[in-house]
Amino acid sequence: MMPVEPEDRRAVLLAVLLGVLILTALASASMACSPHSTSDRGTSGGGTTLTSSTGASTSASVGRPPVSTTATTEEMETASASTQPGGCAAAEARVTITVLYDNAARHPGTRASWGFSCLIEGFERTVLFDTGADGAILLANMEVLGIEPRGIDVVVLSHEHKDHVGGLAEVLAANPHVTVYYPRSFSEKTLRPALETGATLVPVDDPVSLCVGLTVTRPLGSPAESALLLDTAQGHLLVTGCAHPGITEITKSALDLVDEPIHAVLGGFHLMSHSTQQVDAIVRELRRLGVTRCGPAHCTGEAATTQIKAAFADGFMEMGVGAIIVF
Ligand SMILES: [Zn+2]
Ligand SMILES: [Zn+2]
Repeated sequence: MMPVEPEDRRAVLLAVLLGVLILTALASASMACSPHSTSDRGTSGGGTTLTSSTGASTSASVGRPPVSTTATTEEMETASASTQPGGCAAAEARVTITVLYDNAARHPGTRASWGFSCLIEGFERTVLFDTGADGAILLANMEVLGIEPRGIDVVVLSHEHKDHVGGLAEVLAANPHVTVYYPRSFSEKTLRPALETGATLVPVDDPVSLCVGLTVTRPLGSPAESALLLDTAQGHLLVTGCAHPGITEITKSALDLVDEPIHAVLGGFHLMSHSTQQVDAIVRELRRLGVTRCGPAHCTGEAATTQIKAAFADGFMEMGVGAIIVF
Protein backbone atom coordinates (compact mmCIF):
# COMPACT_ATOMS: atom_id res chain seq x y z
CA MET A 1 0.00 0.00 0.00
CA MET A 2 1.39 3.43 -0.97
CA PRO A 3 1.90 5.95 1.87
CA VAL A 4 -0.40 8.99 1.55
CA GLU A 5 1.23 12.41 1.79
CA PRO A 6 -0.51 15.01 4.05
CA GLU A 7 -1.13 17.27 0.97
CA ASP A 8 -2.80 14.38 -0.87
CA ARG A 9 -4.97 13.59 2.15
CA ARG A 10 -6.19 17.21 2.29
CA ALA A 11 -7.04 17.08 -1.44
CA VAL A 12 -9.01 13.85 -0.98
CA LEU A 13 -10.93 15.28 2.00
CA LEU A 14 -11.75 18.44 0.01
CA ALA A 15 -13.05 16.38 -2.91
CA VAL A 16 -15.25 14.27 -0.61
CA LEU A 17 -16.63 17.39 1.08
CA LEU A 18 -17.47 18.99 -2.29
CA GLY A 19 -19.21 15.78 -3.42
CA VAL A 20 -21.40 15.71 -0.29
CA LEU A 21 -22.35 19.38 -0.78
CA ILE A 22 -23.35 18.82 -4.43
CA LEU A 23 -25.41 15.70 -3.57
CA THR A 24 -27.24 17.56 -0.76
CA ALA A 25 -28.10 20.44 -3.12
CA LEU A 26 -29.39 18.05 -5.81
CA ALA A 27 -31.54 16.11 -3.32
CA SER A 28 -33.27 19.22 -1.94
CA ALA A 29 -33.96 20.56 -5.46
CA SER A 30 -35.62 17.31 -6.59
CA MET A 31 -37.89 17.24 -3.53
CA ALA A 32 -39.16 20.78 -3.95
CA CYS A 33 -42.17 19.93 -6.17
CA SER A 34 -43.19 16.36 -5.35
CA PRO A 35 -44.22 15.79 -1.76
CA HIS A 36 -47.37 13.69 -2.30
CA SER A 37 -46.83 11.80 -5.49
CA THR A 38 -48.06 8.33 -4.59
CA SER A 39 -49.49 8.18 -1.11
CA ASP A 40 -52.60 10.25 -1.86
CA ARG A 41 -53.58 8.04 -4.76
CA GLY A 42 -54.33 4.66 -3.29
CA THR A 43 -52.25 1.67 -4.13
CA SER A 44 -54.10 -0.35 -6.70
CA GLY A 45 -53.42 1.59 -9.89
CA GLY A 46 -51.67 -0.15 -12.72
CA GLY A 47 -49.81 1.73 -15.35
CA THR A 48 -49.18 0.22 -18.74
CA THR A 49 -48.40 2.95 -21.19
CA LEU A 50 -50.39 2.14 -24.31
CA THR A 51 -49.95 5.01 -26.67
CA SER A 52 -48.22 8.32 -26.88
CA SER A 53 -49.72 9.53 -30.08
CA THR A 54 -50.89 13.06 -29.40
CA GLY A 55 -47.81 15.18 -29.82
CA ALA A 56 -44.78 16.06 -27.82
CA SER A 57 -46.50 17.35 -24.73
CA THR A 58 -49.58 15.17 -24.61
CA SER A 59 -49.75 11.49 -23.83
CA ALA A 60 -52.52 8.96 -23.63
CA SER A 61 -51.90 5.94 -21.48
CA VAL A 62 -53.63 3.43 -19.29
CA GLY A 63 -53.62 3.22 -15.52
CA ARG A 64 -52.56 5.51 -12.73
CA PRO A 65 -48.98 6.58 -13.24
CA PRO A 66 -47.49 6.78 -9.74
CA VAL A 67 -47.05 3.06 -9.09
CA SER A 68 -46.03 2.19 -12.60
CA THR A 69 -42.58 1.15 -13.60
CA THR A 70 -43.28 2.05 -17.20
CA ALA A 71 -45.03 5.41 -16.82
CA THR A 72 -43.25 8.33 -18.43
CA THR A 73 -41.58 11.04 -16.37
CA GLU A 74 -44.19 13.45 -17.68
CA GLU A 75 -47.02 11.30 -16.32
CA MET A 76 -45.31 11.05 -12.95
CA GLU A 77 -44.83 14.79 -12.78
CA THR A 78 -48.45 15.38 -13.67
CA ALA A 79 -49.70 12.86 -11.16
CA SER A 80 -47.75 14.44 -8.34
CA ALA A 81 -48.68 17.94 -9.43
CA SER A 82 -52.38 17.16 -9.59
CA THR A 83 -52.52 16.12 -5.97
CA GLN A 84 -51.66 19.58 -4.72
CA PRO A 85 -54.04 22.17 -6.18
CA GLY A 86 -52.77 25.68 -5.85
CA GLY A 87 -49.18 24.50 -5.48
CA CYS A 88 -46.82 23.50 -8.24
CA ALA A 89 -49.78 22.19 -10.28
CA ALA A 90 -51.32 25.63 -10.75
CA ALA A 91 -48.02 27.14 -11.85
CA GLU A 92 -47.42 24.36 -14.38
CA ALA A 93 -51.11 24.29 -15.45
CA ARG A 94 -50.78 20.60 -16.31
CA VAL A 95 -54.08 18.78 -16.67
CA THR A 96 -54.93 15.09 -16.45
CA ILE A 97 -58.10 13.49 -17.80
CA THR A 98 -58.73 9.90 -16.68
CA VAL A 99 -61.51 7.91 -18.35
CA LEU A 100 -63.53 6.14 -15.63
CA TYR A 101 -66.54 4.84 -17.59
CA ASP A 102 -66.70 4.02 -21.27
CA ASN A 103 -68.00 1.46 -23.76
CA ALA A 104 -64.48 0.01 -23.90
CA ALA A 105 -62.09 -0.83 -21.05
CA ARG A 106 -58.32 -0.57 -21.42
CA HIS A 107 -57.01 -1.10 -17.92
CA PRO A 108 -56.96 -4.65 -16.52
CA GLY A 109 -59.57 -5.10 -13.80
CA THR A 110 -61.83 -2.26 -15.00
CA ARG A 111 -65.20 -2.89 -16.61
CA ALA A 112 -66.61 -1.57 -19.87
CA SER A 113 -70.23 -0.44 -19.87
CA TRP A 114 -72.38 1.75 -22.07
CA GLY A 115 -71.95 5.32 -20.84
CA PHE A 116 -69.28 7.88 -20.10
CA SER A 117 -67.47 9.48 -17.19
CA CYS A 118 -64.04 11.00 -16.72
CA LEU A 119 -62.09 12.76 -13.98
CA ILE A 120 -60.38 16.08 -14.65
CA GLU A 121 -57.49 17.02 -12.37
CA GLY A 122 -54.94 19.81 -12.33
CA PHE A 123 -57.23 22.80 -11.77
CA GLU A 124 -58.24 24.43 -8.50
CA ARG A 125 -61.24 22.08 -8.41
CA THR A 126 -61.26 18.37 -9.30
CA VAL A 127 -64.19 17.60 -11.59
CA LEU A 128 -66.10 14.41 -12.30
CA PHE A 129 -67.65 14.84 -15.73
CA ASP A 130 -70.74 12.59 -15.99
CA THR A 131 -71.28 9.48 -13.89
CA GLY A 132 -71.89 6.62 -16.35
CA ALA A 133 -74.99 4.42 -16.23
CA ASP A 134 -74.18 2.31 -13.18
CA GLY A 135 -72.70 3.76 -10.00
CA ALA A 136 -71.37 0.41 -8.78
CA ILE A 137 -69.33 -0.05 -11.97
CA LEU A 138 -68.12 3.55 -11.81
CA LEU A 139 -66.94 3.26 -8.19
CA ALA A 140 -65.35 -0.14 -8.85
CA ASN A 141 -63.43 1.27 -11.84
CA MET A 142 -62.32 4.23 -9.70
CA GLU A 143 -61.05 1.88 -7.03
CA VAL A 144 -59.06 -0.18 -9.54
CA LEU A 145 -57.56 3.05 -10.90
CA GLY A 146 -56.68 4.30 -7.42
CA ILE A 147 -59.07 7.27 -7.49
CA GLU A 148 -60.72 8.33 -4.24
CA PRO A 149 -64.33 9.70 -4.58
CA ARG A 150 -63.68 12.08 -1.68
CA GLY A 151 -61.20 13.94 -3.89
CA ILE A 152 -64.01 15.16 -6.18
CA ASP A 153 -65.10 18.79 -5.70
CA VAL A 154 -67.54 19.21 -8.57
CA VAL A 155 -69.80 16.91 -10.60
CA VAL A 156 -70.76 18.20 -14.05
CA LEU A 157 -73.64 16.39 -15.74
CA SER A 158 -73.69 16.88 -19.51
CA HIS A 159 -77.26 15.83 -20.25
CA GLU A 160 -80.17 13.93 -18.80
CA HIS A 161 -79.60 10.44 -20.23
CA LYS A 162 -79.18 7.50 -17.89
CA ASP A 163 -75.80 6.49 -19.32
CA HIS A 164 -74.44 9.85 -18.03
CA VAL A 165 -76.42 10.46 -14.83
CA GLY A 166 -77.12 6.86 -13.69
CA GLY A 167 -74.18 6.76 -11.25
CA LEU A 168 -75.03 10.03 -9.49
CA ALA A 169 -76.60 8.46 -6.38
CA GLU A 170 -73.58 6.23 -5.70
CA VAL A 171 -71.10 9.06 -6.28
CA LEU A 172 -73.00 11.27 -3.83
CA ALA A 173 -73.27 8.45 -1.29
CA ALA A 174 -69.47 8.18 -1.42
CA ASN A 175 -69.00 11.96 -1.34
CA PRO A 176 -71.97 14.26 -0.63
CA HIS A 177 -69.73 17.34 -0.28
CA VAL A 178 -69.76 18.24 -3.95
CA THR A 179 -71.39 20.86 -6.14
CA VAL A 180 -73.45 19.44 -9.01
CA TYR A 181 -73.84 21.45 -12.24
CA TYR A 182 -76.57 20.35 -14.67
CA PRO A 183 -78.66 21.85 -17.51
CA ARG A 184 -81.67 23.56 -15.91
CA SER A 185 -84.16 21.36 -17.79
CA PHE A 186 -83.25 18.31 -15.63
CA SER A 187 -86.19 16.60 -13.92
CA GLU A 188 -86.53 16.45 -10.15
CA LYS A 189 -86.33 12.65 -10.37
CA THR A 190 -82.81 12.77 -11.81
CA LEU A 191 -81.75 15.32 -9.20
CA ARG A 192 -83.31 13.44 -6.26
CA PRO A 193 -80.03 11.83 -5.08
CA ALA A 194 -78.47 15.28 -4.93
CA LEU A 195 -81.46 16.75 -3.10
CA GLU A 196 -81.47 13.89 -0.59
CA THR A 197 -77.74 13.99 0.21
CA GLY A 198 -77.62 17.77 0.55
CA ALA A 199 -75.14 18.31 -2.29
CA THR A 200 -75.08 21.84 -3.67
CA LEU A 201 -77.05 22.13 -6.91
CA VAL A 202 -76.31 24.66 -9.65
CA PRO A 203 -78.60 24.72 -12.71
CA VAL A 204 -76.88 25.87 -15.89
CA ASP A 205 -78.54 28.20 -18.42
CA ASP A 206 -75.48 29.96 -19.78
CA PRO A 207 -71.74 29.30 -19.78
CA VAL A 208 -70.52 29.12 -16.18
CA SER A 209 -66.99 29.13 -14.81
CA LEU A 210 -66.11 26.46 -12.22
CA CYS A 211 -62.70 28.00 -11.49
CA VAL A 212 -59.88 29.48 -13.53
CA GLY A 213 -59.53 27.35 -16.68
CA LEU A 214 -62.78 25.36 -16.42
CA THR A 215 -66.09 26.40 -18.02
CA VAL A 216 -69.38 24.52 -18.44
CA THR A 217 -70.74 25.48 -21.86
CA ARG A 218 -74.27 26.70 -22.54
CA PRO A 219 -76.73 23.78 -22.85
CA LEU A 220 -77.78 23.17 -26.46
CA GLY A 221 -80.58 21.15 -28.04
CA SER A 222 -82.96 18.58 -26.60
CA PRO A 223 -82.08 16.93 -24.32
CA ALA A 224 -80.17 20.07 -23.34
CA GLU A 225 -76.47 19.23 -23.35
CA SER A 226 -73.43 21.05 -21.97
CA ALA A 227 -69.77 20.26 -22.55
CA LEU A 228 -66.75 21.16 -20.44
CA LEU A 229 -64.17 23.60 -21.78
CA LEU A 230 -60.63 23.35 -20.37
CA ASP A 231 -57.89 25.95 -20.77
CA THR A 232 -54.57 24.17 -20.51
CA ALA A 233 -50.95 25.13 -21.08
CA GLN A 234 -51.27 23.33 -24.43
CA GLY A 235 -54.45 25.17 -25.49
CA HIS A 236 -58.21 24.76 -25.25
CA LEU A 237 -59.79 21.33 -24.92
CA LEU A 238 -63.45 20.30 -25.03
CA VAL A 239 -64.93 17.27 -23.23
CA THR A 240 -68.33 16.04 -24.43
CA GLY A 241 -70.87 13.53 -23.07
CA CYS A 242 -72.86 12.35 -26.10
CA ALA A 243 -72.67 15.44 -28.35
CA HIS A 244 -76.35 15.04 -29.34
CA PRO A 245 -76.49 18.59 -30.78
CA GLY A 246 -73.57 17.58 -33.05
CA ILE A 247 -69.86 17.60 -32.17
CA THR A 248 -69.21 20.45 -34.61
CA GLU A 249 -72.14 22.50 -33.21
CA ILE A 250 -70.93 22.04 -29.63
CA THR A 251 -67.39 22.98 -30.69
CA LYS A 252 -68.63 26.11 -32.51
CA SER A 253 -70.67 27.15 -29.48
CA ALA A 254 -67.63 26.73 -27.21
CA LEU A 255 -65.50 28.76 -29.63
CA ASP A 256 -67.63 31.80 -28.71
CA LEU A 257 -66.02 31.62 -25.26
CA VAL A 258 -62.38 31.74 -26.35
CA ASP A 259 -60.10 33.79 -28.58
CA GLU A 260 -58.06 30.88 -29.89
CA PRO A 261 -59.03 27.59 -31.55
CA ILE A 262 -60.13 24.59 -29.51
CA HIS A 263 -57.41 22.21 -30.51
CA ALA A 264 -58.61 19.02 -28.83
CA VAL A 265 -62.03 17.39 -28.49
CA LEU A 266 -62.75 14.18 -26.61
CA GLY A 267 -65.74 12.20 -25.32
CA GLY A 268 -68.88 10.78 -26.94
CA PHE A 269 -69.51 12.07 -30.50
CA HIS A 270 -72.70 10.09 -31.24
CA LEU A 271 -71.82 9.07 -34.81
CA MET A 272 -73.06 5.45 -34.76
CA SER A 273 -75.60 5.93 -37.53
CA HIS A 274 -73.60 8.41 -39.61
CA SER A 275 -72.38 7.40 -43.06
CA THR A 276 -68.70 7.44 -44.05
CA GLN A 277 -69.36 10.62 -46.03
CA GLN A 278 -71.06 12.29 -43.08
CA VAL A 279 -68.17 11.42 -40.76
CA ASP A 280 -65.73 12.72 -43.39
CA ALA A 281 -67.61 16.02 -43.47
CA ILE A 282 -67.51 16.24 -39.66
CA VAL A 283 -63.76 15.56 -39.63
CA ARG A 284 -63.21 18.27 -42.25
CA GLU A 285 -65.32 20.74 -40.26
CA LEU A 286 -63.48 19.96 -37.02
CA ARG A 287 -60.17 20.53 -38.80
CA ARG A 288 -61.47 23.79 -40.28
CA LEU A 289 -62.38 24.92 -36.76
CA GLY A 290 -58.80 24.24 -35.65
CA VAL A 291 -59.16 20.86 -33.93
CA THR A 292 -55.93 18.86 -34.27
CA ARG A 293 -56.44 16.21 -31.60
CA CYS A 294 -59.44 13.97 -31.26
CA GLY A 295 -60.44 11.38 -28.62
CA PRO A 296 -63.70 9.71 -29.72
CA ALA A 297 -65.28 7.60 -26.98
CA HIS A 298 -68.56 6.06 -25.81
CA CYS A 299 -71.28 6.51 -28.46
CA THR A 300 -68.98 7.53 -31.34
CA GLY A 301 -69.27 4.06 -32.87
CA GLU A 302 -66.52 1.74 -34.09
CA ALA A 303 -66.64 2.68 -37.77
CA ALA A 304 -66.54 6.43 -37.09
CA THR A 305 -63.74 5.94 -34.53
CA THR A 306 -61.66 4.05 -37.12
CA GLN A 307 -62.25 6.86 -39.63
CA ILE A 308 -61.34 9.56 -37.10
CA LYS A 309 -58.21 7.63 -36.10
CA ALA A 310 -57.05 7.49 -39.71
CA ALA A 311 -57.89 11.16 -40.30
CA PHE A 312 -56.21 12.58 -37.19
CA ALA A 313 -53.23 10.18 -37.23
CA ASP A 314 -50.81 11.47 -34.54
CA GLY A 315 -53.59 13.65 -33.14
CA PHE A 316 -55.78 10.66 -32.31
CA MET A 317 -56.25 9.94 -28.59
CA GLU A 318 -57.11 6.37 -27.58
CA MET A 319 -59.97 6.35 -25.06
CA GLY A 320 -61.51 3.59 -22.90
CA VAL A 321 -61.66 3.05 -19.14
CA GLY A 322 -58.25 3.68 -17.65
CA ALA A 323 -56.96 5.90 -20.46
CA ILE A 324 -55.13 8.94 -19.14
CA ILE A 325 -54.80 12.03 -21.30
CA VAL A 326 -52.19 14.54 -20.11
CA PHE A 327 -52.12 18.15 -21.30
ZN1 LIG B 1 -77.16 10.81 -24.56
ZN1 LIG C 1 -74.44 8.62 -23.96
